Amino acid sequence: MNLAKKVVIVTTGGTIAMRYDPFSQSVVPAVTGPELVAAVPPLAEVGPVEVVEYANLPSPHITPAMMFDIARMLDVILARPEVAGVVVTHGTDTLEETAFLLDLVLKSDKPVCLTAAMRSSAEISPDGPKNILCAVRTAFSASAAGQGVLVVVNEEIHAAREVTKTHSANPKTFASPFWGPVGYVDEDRVIFRRQSLGREKIQPQALVEDVHLIKLVAGSDDFFFRCLVEKRVRGIVVEGFGRGNVPPAVVPGIEAALAAGIPVVLTTRVHGGRVLDVYGYEGGVIPLKNMGVLLAGEMSGQKARLKLMLALGLAENAADLARYFERP
Ligand code: ASP
Repeated sequence: MNLAKKVVIVTTGGTIAMRYDPFSQSVVPAVTGPELVAAVPPLAEVGPVEVVEYANLPSPHITPAMMFDIARMLDVILARPEVAGVVVTHGTDTLEETAFLLDLVLKSDKPVCLTAAMRSSAEISPDGPKNILCAVRTAFSASAAGQGVLVVVNEEIHAAREVTKTHSANPKTFASPFWGPVGYVDEDRVIFRRQSLGREKIQPQALVEDVHLIKLVAGSDDFFFRCLVEKRVRGIVVEGFGRGNVPPAVVPGIEAALAAGIPVVLTTRVHGGRVLDVYGYEGGVIPLKNMGVLLAGEMSGQKARLKLMLALGLAENAADLARYFERP
């Protein structure tokens, strides 16, 4: 029993806080923060917890501005000396985005663990209570400090930068493709097996929200780029193919965006590996990079979009912005 310190559980909603409603015949937000904790009696053996209800939203309703707001709130909570760490309960759909944004902006090195559930509380074998228990145990664990923001689900611990939702329904949905978990939660202890290297911090006063993601498919053209250029958005992230290559008909749209002063960041729609200037054909990354397109390394489109929102909040000019994306 850890008497000195407490873990603060910040609830934001998601299936973990939902119940089946027979009237509407659907799963809807229904469970309060204190009810969530009350459903996990073994927490009393782990240590004191405090519950802070941020929201009770399905995670498709969570915006980057809310993620940033949650970060500001966590900075204040984590600065309290009696707080050992924080657990954030969240819907699974956008959990990896909130986790990654928090990883980039949070100031403290104390453990921050996001957790969730794929089954709502009234289903057979709900996964939420065990996930909350494991997340709180990880947040109390000294070995979790300095590991960055973690996602604790199914007794596995994943790094925010690497984790993604891989299945629409199966409780074993979170995985870190090509890397695997950084650790796991066993009956008697929390075990870390490796560290996620290459983490970074981008800590602006505010983020720039008007940044958009375009996913490319065979035969894509520049239609969506032209819409965004006309709208004068602040940034565009592109999910290209493989090493980052794009169809030739997309290139005029990228040129138009760059000519309008809109930064374009390139990612890949595949689950592993970096985008890189290997191919020189029309739409290949060599000409794209020469044009001024920024490369996002191994990062998924949805995470690179959040990174660009934060970097735009700090960067003074295009050269400065490039520093966030061209780092080795
Ligand atoms: N749609 C839900 C959400 O993300 C899914 C979940 O929580 O598992 O809020």
